[in-house]
Amino acid sequence: CIFCKIIKGEIPSKKAYEDDTVVAFFDIQPQAPVHIVVIPKEHIENMNGITADNSDVIAHIFEVIPQIAKENNLADGYRVVSNCGANAGQTVFHLHFHILGGEKLNTTMA
Ligand code: 5GP
Ligand code: ZN
Repeated sequence: CIFCKIIKGEIPSKKAYEDDTVVAFFDIQPQAPVHIVVIPKEHIENMNGITADNSDVIAHIFEVIPQIAKENNLADGYRVVSNCGANAGQTVFHLHFHILGGEKLNTTMA
């Protein structure tokens, strides 16, 4: 898994945030002026893999997102996206949340 390799440092990435359970890094193919990917260190395939046993880290991710947004000057707003499965265009099957901002984003979500 590419993101597990990023967590282990086997694939280099520009980190935006890291703690014991969560990593955030800048997307290699940014789709907005600021495009950061936030992931749990635990390998969870996508949102369908969230359970009562692992949801603490998901809550934690949503605590750190506003912090990351603030540090990256997203006071004017940002969007959080998680693609789940083929129809959503998920390409990396390690749960992740995109933080997109730095400009006025497209108002259509899909
Ligand atoms: P998805 O399409 O699954 O929602 O998002 C996967 C994201 O991971 C894409 O936006 C893609 O550009 C990014 N990505 C894939 N491989 C790498 C990589 O090796 N490094 C970084 N920084 N981002 C990656
Ligand atoms: Zn993984």
